[in-house]
Amino acid sequence: MADLEIRNLRVAIEGKEILKGISLALNKGEVHAIMGPNGSGKSTLALVLMGHPKYEVLEGEVWFKGQNILELEPNERAKLGLFLAFQYPVEIEGVTLSHFLWTAYRALHGNGEARISPQEIKVFRQRLKENLKKLHLDESFAQRHLNLGFSGGEKKRAEILQLLMLQPEFAILDETDSGLDIDSLKIVAEAVQSLRGPNFGALVITHYQRILHHLKPDFVHVLADGRIVASGGPELAEELEKKGYRWLTEAQGV
Ligand code: ADP
Ligand code: MG
Repeated sequence: MADLEIRNLRVAIEGKEILKGISLALNKGEVHAIMGPNGSGKSTLALVLMGHPKYEVLEGEVWFKGQNILELEPNERAKLGLFLAFQYPVEIEGVTLSHFLWTAYRALHGNGEARISPQEIKVFRQRLKENLKKLHLDESFAQRHLNLGFSGGEKKRAEILQLLMLQPEFAILDETDSGLDIDSLKIVAEAVQSLRGPNFGALVITHYQRILHHLKPDFVHVLADGRIVASGGPELAEELEKKGYRWLTEAQGV
């Protein structure tokens, strides 16, 4: 069995079936890219993996660490080592980014004790400083309210800052590259690339091939109308860049 295994996943929203039987096997050490036209169900897949309550699972299972995680709450999934970078991060006034990161960091990596040790704070602060630097963000950035008034690119970088701070085993990145200029794209891709290793896997949802130049995926899948219509290596992304999606979706009768 793969480290993260999606089996025949069928998902509906408001009675409409969006995912029509998705099966994917992901292993740590691998980066999988999911590409596909608008409205094909990419974000639905990302959100249902993390446990968004608005989606109705009609059928299927998602196995991770010996459990069908579809039965778990989102925070329990995060504790197991899953992470999602949202396509559309939500603005939360009154919560600073650093406070948000600290709370999440402590929930995942804390010693479970209510008392906070000075050492713990020191390690957190040091990591925050390093990761802000990695993302070319000023230290004052962490004192701003979560996503409030952030530019599109800053929101995406804040998502990646969370990823770097929380160091999950599996990260799902939902169009983290959309809305980024070329320099920011490179910074974000390199930050994700720096996490690559035997204990980290990623599912990178993207519309464009550009991020994949930096973040060379091991596998590329195409999602169209709720189904995986093609899977291959990095060369598939290049083929899509040249030919678009139609040749695939037409061949499948979608
Ligand atoms: P993608 O991320 O690939 O662009 P999404 O997963 O966001 O696609 O959306 C897949 C389909 O689900 C779209 O047709 C979208 O209109 C539909 N959908 C998403 N949210 C809702 C909703 N709240 N009510 C009805 N349909 C929805
Ligand atoms: Mg989407």
